[in-house]
Amino acid sequence: MTHAPTDRPVLVLNAGSSSLKYQLVVPESGELRAAGIVERIGESGSEVADHAAALEVMGAQLRDDGVHLDDVALRAVGHRVVHGGPDFSAPVVIDDAVLERIRQLSALAPLHNPAAVIGIEAARGRFDVPHVAVFDTAFFSSLPAEASTYAVPRDLAAKHSIRRYGFHGTSHQFVAQATADLLGRPLTDLRQVILHLGNGCSASAVRGGHAVDTSMGLTPLQGLVMGTRSGDVDPGLHAYLSREAGMSIDEIDTVLNKRSGVLGLSGVNDFRELVHRVEAGDDAARLAFDVVVHRLKHYVGAYLAILGGADVLVFTAGIGQHSAPVRAAVADGLGELGIAVDPARNGDGSTGARIISSDDSRVVVAVVPTDEELAIARQTAELVG
Ligand code: AMP
Repeated sequence: MTHAPTDRPVLVLNAGSSSLKYQLVVPESGELRAAGIVERIGESGSEVADHAAALEVMGAQLRDDGVHLDDVALRAVGHRVVHGGPDFSAPVVIDDAVLERIRQLSALAPLHNPAAVIGIEAARGRFDVPHVAVFDTAFFSSLPAEASTYAVPRDLAAKHSIRRYGFHGTSHQFVAQATADLLGRPLTDLRQVILHLGNGCSASAVRGGHAVDTSMGLTPLQGLVMGTRSGDVDPGLHAYLSREAGMSIDEIDTVLNKRSGVLGLSGVNDFRELVHRVEAGDDAARLAFDVVVHRLKHYVGAYLAILGGADVLVFTAGIGQHSAPVRAAVADGLGELGIAVDPARNGDGSTGARIISSDDSRVVVAVVPTDEELAIARQTAELVG
């Protein structure tokens, strides 16, 4: 069988320490041929010993779906890599030197980059096609210096590559373009505040398609309140907990990453469950919801100031796309700032890209689904030709 280049799919891999998410996507048409996840990799009692074994399981799952990877004329493999550090500001074809550099960046992303390296190694051993790394930080690599610089001694920052990197960049970039398409306006004309609200949450300010600020920082811990992550806290908290509670740095890091956020405040991290509990009158859930919304308003206001006003406020990812109560609460009281959500449009339960502001809202408020895998597939295809 011959395949036109534009029929040939890209395999998108997102390797975590114990999971491997995959999608087989045709970049040009957006056709999703197959998708799935392999879990419990390397865990005791699991039949999936490592990421190489996980690729075999993926192959078997795909065959069950009628997809034979050796027959699809695979064009390339696109790998999601969380941290590109100071080196990578765009997708890159992976060779041994690139892989080594991603490995070295593990110091900046110890929870994420090691798994990506293992996933890339396994996939390069299995698929003899170009492999491309697409970095979550890339879209934010061109942040203005005043936004990316922390006010710490310059020599210390330089020596240890300390700066605001930002994450979820693939999503923010995709949504910025998709929003321009929805509005039928050129990306270059728009000032956008984008709220990516999923398990991880981040905000960005985007002017003319270029990011000018974002809420995540050196690590994905900074900024908005998330499912299990605290987001912004006083930087003095670490020293205080170390002295007063006798906690080690690793313990503090674990508490702030895994046991804080909505989970730490309410006992659940799934936002659907949180909203159910709020509706049932649970006080802890109410406080968690209010803290989430307060922080969101804080960033919306900040980015309106950074941008000198906005043309559009965009909600995306699991919570942003599906939770009308969060969208309503964020916009509540922002009429003076030109933001007014129409309750019927906000609550109508539709799922596609759509406008939810009232006709007299100076700022358009939109819900725009993100698709990081499609974005990775497209960037991969662009690079390998
Ligand atoms: P993501 O990381 O983009 O998959 O988003 C995951 C988050 O979206 C979880 O906190 C889910 O509870 C939340 N979510 C998904 N669907 C809904 C919904 N219908 N209402 C509220 N939150 C939702």
